[in-house]
Amino acid sequence: MFGKILLTIAVIAFIWFGFKYLGRLAELRRRDEADKVTPPRTPPGAAAGETETMVECRVCGTWQPGRTARSCGRSDCPY
Ligand SMILES: [Zn+2]
Repeated sequence: MFGKILLTIAVIAFIWFGFKYLGRLAELRRRDEADKVTPPRTPPGAAAGETETMVECRVCGTWQPGRTARSCGRSDCPY
């Protein structure tokens, strides 16, 4: 009798954790699909830097990648 109750609890626990695991798997799959649908607009890595257009600062004359151009520190620097 007591063994039967234990077995029932074990089965319920097994099913409970099984559903939890399945739910997590489904959520991970949903996230993966969302990532595929909306790929990052700026691909990370060196490949992106190679295709970037370089811009020259009018004031200091240094060349920088257009998207990540930063001010050289001068007050009249356009970046
Ligand atoms: Zn500058």
